[in-house]
Amino acid sequence: MSVSSCLVVGNWKMHGTRAEATALVDGLAERLAASGPVAVRHAEIVLCPPHPLLVPVGQRVRETPFRLGGQDCSSAPPGPRTGEVAAAMLRDAGCGYVLLGHSERRTHQHESDAAVRAKVVAAQAVGLTPIVCVGESAAVRQGGQAVRHVTDQVLGSLPPSVDATATVVAYEPVWSIGTGDTPGVADIEAMHAALRDALVGTHGPGPWRVLYGGSVRARNAGAIAAGSGVDGLLVGGASLQPGEFWGICEAVSLTRTVPP
Ligand code: PEP
Repeated sequence: MSVSSCLVVGNWKMHGTRAEATALVDGLAERLAASGPVAVRHAEIVLCPPHPLLVPVGQRVRETPFRLGGQDCSSAPPGPRTGEVAAAMLRDAGCGYVLLGHSERRTHQHESDAAVRAKVVAAQAVGLTPIVCVGESAAVRQGGQAVRHVTDQVLGSLPPSVDATATVVAYEPVWSIGTGDTPGVADIEAMHAALRDALVGTHGPGPWRVLYGGSVRARNAGAIAAGSGVDGLLVGGASLQPGEFWGICEAVSLTRTVPP
């Protein structure tokens, strides 16, 4: 049996002062020192702080296994776009990843699939791995259209030129984000299989990495991450609590540990 690492992405959203970010990263570093890197050896951990915190957080995690990601980028190259952040700037700040098309942006900034698709092109052009978020609302799920909606959304959000080996998809049911309510593992597995089928059918074999996000906590992370076709977790609220986030990373890593 081969052991593939599991991606754990912490989305801090619009939270954190420099002092709070320092405390959070120090809290994670303390746990890393106490448990040893072996505790999370099968977890690839990415922190996505708000843009002003990228550089200080990046400096603090430089000697650790934690990696850095942005929460959004412009589809345009550096230039006259007041208030925007270019993909190249994230790269320069030390990011390897960028979240794109999060449901909060699709709702509050009215981001369309086409807008997300253009951002994926911009991110990949500078060597960032986009983490493209998709998910259905409660109404769509109740109407029996969840699979159709989510697969349409992912295909609409990826350009024909997408590099499958450097793309991550995050399935995040909107009704699960920040609510404490999660789908059952079987439902997550079914959606991940549908997503993978759609991706393979349209863009080729991949390998595609598909994460689950929505109300992940240390207590449910292991069961979800052990689900078939689940390549990692996108974590919002719990990523702001070092103990909880560290517990998630440990639980996820354990799911990839082969018993002797
Ligand atoms: C998110 O917003 O990406 C998310 C998964 O949030 P939460 O973990 O708080 O549900």
